[in-house]
Amino acid sequence: MKAVYTSRHRGHDVTHETFLGESIPANEVVARAESIRAALETDGGFELVGPTDHGRGPIEAVHDPGLVRFLEESWPAVERERIPRPALIADTYPSRPMFEGMSEAVLATRPEPDAIAGRAGWWGLDTANPIVAGTYDAARGAVDVALTTLDLVLAGERVAYGLCRPPGHHAARSMAGGYCFFNNAAIAAEAATRATGERVAILDLDFHHGNGTQQIFWRRGDVFYASLHGDPRRIYPFFLGHADETGEGDGAGENLNLPLPAGTGDEAYLEALQRPLDAIADRPGGLVVVSLGFDTYRDDPICDFALTTPVYHEIGRRVASLGRPLVVLQEGGYHLPTLGANAVAWLRGAAGRAGLAEP
Ligand SMILES: [Zn+2]
Repeated sequence: MKAVYTSRHRGHDVTHETFLGESIPANEVVARAESIRAALETDGGFELVGPTDHGRGPIEAVHDPGLVRFLEESWPAVERERIPRPALIADTYPSRPMFEGMSEAVLATRPEPDAIAGRAGWWGLDTANPIVAGTYDAARGAVDVALTTLDLVLAGERVAYGLCRPPGHHAARSMAGGYCFFNNAAIAAEAATRATGERVAILDLDFHHGNGTQQIFWRRGDVFYASLHGDPRRIYPFFLGHADETGEGDGAGENLNLPLPAGTGDEAYLEALQRPLDAIADRPGGLVVVSLGFDTYRDDPICDFALTTPVYHEIGRRVASLGRPLVVLQEGGYHLPTLGANAVAWLRGAAGRAGLAEP
């Protein structure tokens, strides 16, 4: 199987994030992608290839050009404004009630702030998104990885894997957040609809709800989004991911959320997975973009499911049994000791290869 990787992700070298107001060691770190890369190389069944440059066009087909501009300008602005911080993390966000009573017309003319601290809030969801000198380049690299993975599948590969870092599924049209800057999966799905003229499905298997992907395709009838995730009543991103969010307009019925309880294990997960697989199989169209997270693993430090390594092989096998071309893109997963083994297990399953004994 071809796997797309670039070392550009190393530029997004963050050491800390904030959690409930405290600075804590970052979870979304360089070692994540490197441990997966090492495991793929050790396995021997993967051909690592570099991404090609796809420019800003496919990004701005999905994201507000203002978000792209902000991310490009953010670190130079931190330096220019002499902000004495190792990373840019906003602390003031435009919360919805701040604008209560204001008409859409007035709201639409509220200006983006000048100060970079204000701009970081304007374009952001939360404080889990530190920006450092190499963040913009790393985020652009992750998009190129996703689009190159799509290119491989469009050229005839049955399944290809993009080792995207930073991840993407929390990033909405006009918003970065939750370790995500550009929505790699959404950008690939949009490019796929344009390239093929066919409907595309996105299957989000990260532990968290992909609020950004849902937002981007909320009113779209040509992109079906399905997600299995920790119930937002207890889990980040808290405000979206409920079962009654099913899409609107042309997208009515094209959004499927399956919030799951704490402690969800292998059997319950496989049972829940059947519904999105059936929903994809029932729909016309070809390509499936998989937002693949391993934060569903039992020992993940920030999540509460209980999946084991062998079940990732079975999940990969079942997703591949759809018989659709698969663009598999990396999202979350924070238990470094098992990240590589879990990725190899999933991808071996998708490739129709045998699983390995649990590490
Ligand atoms: Zn996640």
